[in-house]
Amino acid sequence: MSRFLSNTSKKLVPYTPGEQPKQRKFIKLNTNENPYPPSPKVAEALMNGVENDMPKEISDLRLYSDPEEKVLVDAIAAYYNVKPTQVVCGNGSDENIAFAFKAFCDKDMPITFADLTYSFYPSLCALYEIPYNVIPLEADFTIDPEKYYNLGTTIIIANPNAPTGIFLPLDKIEDIAKHNPDNVVIVDEAYVDFGGQSAVTLLDKCENIVVTQTFSKSRSLAGARIGFAIANEALANDMNTVRNSGNPYNINRLSILAGAAAISDREYTEECCKKVMATRAMTIKGLREMGFDVCDSCTNFLFAESDKISGLDYYTKLRENGILVRRWSAPRLENRVRISIGTDEEMETFLRVTQEILSSTPQK
Ligand SMILES: *Cc1c(COP(=O)(O)O)cnc(C)c1O
Repeated sequence: MSRFLSNTSKKLVPYTPGEQPKQRKFIKLNTNENPYPPSPKVAEALMNGVENDMPKEISDLRLYSDPEEKVLVDAIAAYYNVKPTQVVCGNGSDENIAFAFKAFCDKDMPITFADLTYSFYPSLCALYEIPYNVIPLEADFTIDPEKYYNLGTTIIIANPNAPTGIFLPLDKIEDIAKHNPDNVVIVDEAYVDFGGQSAVTLLDKCENIVVTQTFSKSRSLAGARIGFAIANEALANDMNTVRNSGNPYNINRLSILAGAAAISDREYTEECCKKVMATRAMTIKGLREMGFDVCDSCTNFLFAESDKISGLDYYTKLRENGILVRRWSAPRLENRVRISIGTDEEMETFLRVTQEILSSTPQK
C-alpha cells in the first residue's frame, strides 16, 4: 500500500476471481465458463468485410464505439420483447450490478443480500461506501421470502443463486418485490438460461424490479465482457445516467457486434444450454451415487459436498489430477466445492477422478 492511498480506498476488499491458469492445461471447472464456443454468427459478424488489408471491424477500432450501443440494445430488446429504452448495457453484468448499486444505494440507502451469494456484492459495497445487511439462507440453502418483507433497503437476489445453483420461483420474487414497494429489487440472472425463468415477465407488475443478465455464461462470451440490465424506463434511465457519468463508451465496438450476433442466435444458445443441462444431470447422478450431497441446480455448476472427504482435500486432490474447481473457507461452505459443468468428456473424467480420490481416502 502506498502512502498516497486514500482513506476510503484503504477500506476496499477486492473480489477474488477464480484462477485462470497460464501454464499447465487443466480441466477448468472453476469459473462457470461455457465449454462450447460462441455462436458461429459471432465470428461472421466480426469477420465481415475487408478494409486496409484487415477485417473491417478491426480497421474500425480507430473509431469510438457507439455510446448508445444501439445495435446491441436493439437486439436485447427484441429478444426480450421490451423497449430499447428499458435496456442498459454493461462491460460484463458486473458493471450493470455496479450501475444499479450506484444508482439505487448510498450511505443512506443500504442494500440487503443473502449470506451465501455472489461475493462481488460486498466488494462493491466497500467501493461505493454502501452499508449492507445480510440475511442467512435457510439450512437447505433456499431463501425464505418472508425474511425479505419491508426491509426499507435496496435488495439484490442472485436467481438462480451462486454458489448454490438454487432457483427461487418467480412468484416468490414477485412476493418480495410487492412487499418492498418503495425499494428497488435487483435480480441477478447470470445463470437464468440454464433452467430458470426470467423476472423480465414481472416488470409490468412490479415497477421496482431491475433484472441483470450476462453474455458470459449461456452465450459463451465471458472474455467479451458484455452484460445488460432490463427494467422499466425510469430505472433504466437512472442507470444510464450512472453509465454516462463514468464511461459512456463502456462496451467496445467488437463486443457490441459480438453481443448482437450472439443474442440473435436464439437457437444456438438454447442448443448449448440443453447440452450443458444434460451433462449436468449426468454429473449430479454420478456424484449422488458416490454419496455426495448436491443441490438441485438451475445453473451451469454444481454445489456439492461429501462426508467422506473434506472440501480442502477434495479440491487439492482434484487439482493434483489436473482438475480445477472452486472452494471457500467460510463457515457452511468449508466442505463444499463448486463444480462448473464442462463437456460430457470432461465430466466423465471428473467423475472417474472423484471415484479414485474417494477410494484412496481413508474412511473417517
Ligand atoms: C458470472 C456472474 C455474474 C457476471 O459476470 P460478468 O462476466 O461480469 O457478466 C454476475 N452474477 C453472478 C452471480 C455471476 O456468477
